[in-house]
Amino acid sequence: MSGTLPPVRDELRGVVPYGAPQLDVPVRLNTNETPVPPPPGFLATFAERLMELELNRYPDRDAVALRTALGAREGLGAERVWAANGSNEVIFQLLLAYGGVGRSALLFHPSYSMYAELCRNSSTPAHTVDLGLEGRLTLEHVEGPVHDVVAAHAPSLTLFANPNNPTGALVGHDVIRALHDTVTGWVVIDEAYVEFAPDGTSARALLEELPRLIVSRTFSKAFRLAGLRLGYLLGPLGLVPELQKVRLPYHLDSLTQLAGLVAIEQESVFLEHRALTRSECTRVHDRLAEMAGVEPLPSAGNFVLFTSPLEDGFDRLLSQGVLVRDFSSAVGHPGTLRVSIGTPEENDAFLAALTRVLEG
Ligand code: PMP
Repeated sequence: MSGTLPPVRDELRGVVPYGAPQLDVPVRLNTNETPVPPPPGFLATFAERLMELELNRYPDRDAVALRTALGAREGLGAERVWAANGSNEVIFQLLLAYGGVGRSALLFHPSYSMYAELCRNSSTPAHTVDLGLEGRLTLEHVEGPVHDVVAAHAPSLTLFANPNNPTGALVGHDVIRALHDTVTGWVVIDEAYVEFAPDGTSARALLEELPRLIVSRTFSKAFRLAGLRLGYLLGPLGLVPELQKVRLPYHLDSLTQLAGLVAIEQESVFLEHRALTRSECTRVHDRLAEMAGVEPLPSAGNFVLFTSPLEDGFDRLLSQGVLVRDFSSAVGHPGTLRVSIGTPEENDAFLAALTRVLEG
């Protein structure tokens, strides 16, 4: 029967949908969520305020209250903030508005693999600069291959994750400034993990200085609300009206807008786990470094990328009840896994399981 279905777009033929396995195993360390649930006080306030929602009405199409609250945290007005269903949708809307046929985007490798998929889905050709296994952008990359791509293609957008995923590499403001000054179009700094990085990392500090800079953020990681689907961006005046042209009507539902507002009101409680997550990240990294043949990369996120002599490490950890993410083929280096930082108990379970499979 399927032979009779109308053909899908050429570029989607044979494509496997994006997504890490969602398996019901005891220790799930594969999608960089925060392992602790949102604070109970959040759920109580959210439930109370939920009663006031008029769900028979469409949500505020422009999420003005939420964008105002998001902007206030940054000293910016709502007109410089945009919100959508996860930062994935924020980035997709940027590509819909500024990418497309006849334009292009500049990506880096290794980095967040959805960028390439969002480019494909928005018919935006992508040019990729290779950063090597560490995934750390340097001034040499900017002056060399980035400069060359810009000279040849003048991409409309450059997408760069800082800290990078899956490597955890962090770059400073000097590199972001150089990147901005070298490329012609938008520079989107994806700060999905910035709350885990040292204070002062955010490119927010460069927004007034660099006119084509956009900072994208999410509530899915340090804000412990991956189930919510809320992401946002900060950018210059004039950007939001263009994004309003490509968003679906009422794209951000009332429940998400309300939950985001309540989370911002309770921000300090939400982020209390950060110190523990950071110290656990260092502990996991250092323990991995002590294991024979295991090489972890330093990480400014809530995950660690490491190589081990095991080519079937993913399956062997899974057989021990520990789910991690296999990056071997994505980074082109066998035995490369990424482990998200869980609770101390989950991290211990991962370290013990890896020790066992390395010995076995
Ligand atoms: N950017 C990066 C670098 C990510 O790792 C992720 C999720 N893994 C996202 C964006 C998307 O997150 P969300 O859509 O949940 O905001």
